[in-house]
Amino acid sequence: MKKIVIASNNSGKLEEFCHLLKPLGIKVLPQSEFNVTEAEEPYSTFVENALAKARHAGKCTGLPALADDSGICVDALNGEPGVYSARYAGEPKSDERNNQKLIRELRTLQDHNAHYYCIIVLMRYADDPQPIITEGVWYGRIVLEPRGKGGFGYDPYFFLPDLGMTAAELSIEHKNQISHRGKALALLTQRIREETSNSPSRDKAEKIKSLL
Ligand code: IMP
Repeated sequence: MKKIVIASNNSGKLEEFCHLLKPLGIKVLPQSEFNVTEAEEPYSTFVENALAKARHAGKCTGLPALADDSGICVDALNGEPGVYSARYAGEPKSDERNNQKLIRELRTLQDHNAHYYCIIVLMRYADDPQPIITEGVWYGRIVLEPRGKGGFGYDPYFFLPDLGMTAAELSIEHKNQISHRGKALALLTQRIREETSNSPSRDKAEKIKSLL
C-alpha cells in the first residue's frame, strides 16, 4: 500500500481521510508519527495555509504530503470564524469554547446561514510546482442547541435543513458523502485517476503513480 503523510494531528480529520483514501490503496500516516511539528498558519486564506502545511510535512518526511485547511464561515459574521475556526475562542484550542463563542455571537442575530469550506492540497514532493488543489463547500445553518454525538468541532450546531439533522447526527459514511471535505476529496481522487489514466504524457502519469 502506498503511503502519504497527512499534515494534521486532528483525530477527527485523520479518521475521515483514512476512511476515504483506503479504497484507493493509499495509507495515510499522521505527521505526528514522524515527529513533525505543526506548521505555522499565518495566512488569511485557506489555500495559502494548506500549501504551507503540505510543504512543511513533505519537507520533513520526504513523503507525498496531503494537507487540508478547513473551517466554518458564518454569513452574518462576515465569514468568521473562517481560517480561525480551530482557535476561534483563543488558545488552547477547544471545540467547546469555540462553539460557546459562536452561539453567543449568533444569539441576537436573525441570519444563521453558514457553510463549511475545505481545500485540499496534495504535493507529490515538497517543491512540487503543480500541487493538486481541490475544494468543497457544504451549506447549512447554525442552531443554538447542540444535537448529536458524532463528528467533531462545530458539527453538533451545524444543521442541514434538507436532512433535518445536524452534522453530528450523521454516520461517518453519510457525512463523508456530502461534507465539504468529502466533496474536496472526491475531486482529489478524480484528479489522481485522471492524471494517471488520461495524461498526454505517460512519463508524468507514471511519475505520479510511483510517487503515490
Ligand atoms: P484546520 O485544522 O486549521 O483546518 O482547522 C479546521 C477547524 O475548522 C477545526 O478545528 C474545526 O473547528 C472546524 N472544522 C473543519 N471541518 C469541520 C468539520 O467537518 N466538522 C466540524 N468542524 C470542522
